[in-house]
Amino acid sequence: MKRLIAGGLVIAAAALALTPAASAAPTPAADQPLAGLVIALDPGHQLGNSNPANFDELAKTHFNGYETKICNTSGTATNDGFPEATFTWNVAQQVKAQLEALGADVRMTRHSNSWKKWGPCVNERGAFGAKVGADLMLSIHADGADSSGYGFYVMVPSVIKGWTDDISSKSIRLGKRFVSGMAAAGAPRSTYVSGQMMITPTISTLNFSDVPVILLESGNMRNATEARRMKDPAGQRQYADWIVAGLRAALRR
Ligand SMILES: [Zn+2]
Repeated sequence: MKRLIAGGLVIAAAALALTPAASAAPTPAADQPLAGLVIALDPGHQLGNSNPANFDELAKTHFNGYETKICNTSGTATNDGFPEATFTWNVAQQVKAQLEALGADVRMTRHSNSWKKWGPCVNERGAFGAKVGADLMLSIHADGADSSGYGFYVMVPSVIKGWTDDISSKSIRLGKRFVSGMAAAGAPRSTYVSGQMMITPTISTLNFSDVPVILLESGNMRNATEARRMKDPAGQRQYADWIVAGLRAALRR
């Protein structure tokens, strides 16, 4: 989503982990419930998307089936400047470790959180899930909304013929289960997005996907309570736990 940050030019906006089976039973072991699944994780933005040296690359545009969008945005930040890119990176690392411990094959759209780097562009992020044969892609973000609002919500693709008609209904179905799972684990539901789900044609990361895809806005970085949790390593672990619960609910594992 386009994000305006104060003051400036804004680039706004399976390797089957089969457990050694005593019998030939194909069902995953209790401690490896995600064995056989490939999950693509997309930690939103990149730290260097805020670096002016990268603005030319980031300004390159792609048509996403609905509208033309720039390569990638800076993302939002807490009021005291903790960037969304760092939040999504830290949380995604922990989600990855937990999913792997549960047997999943996890692939990441970016491999660093670097002031020098930018992107990848949203069209590449969107296409990534199919490229790695993912069963599901989760794009992890945080919102920059009015400070009074808080809580998580998801965005999933609406139907755009020739673009998302193959993945929209499954993404909505998995998205609803993800929301229920995250809320059941204790994550605060969004106070400003009804049903904690937006079904939208505008998000390139969703539109370029050819596998079921969910974009999570983990919380509102402009809300004081959530900002504190997002900056705190223990809070980041809490988000990771909630997200893993959401994914397990979505995948029914
Ligand atoms: Zn974002």
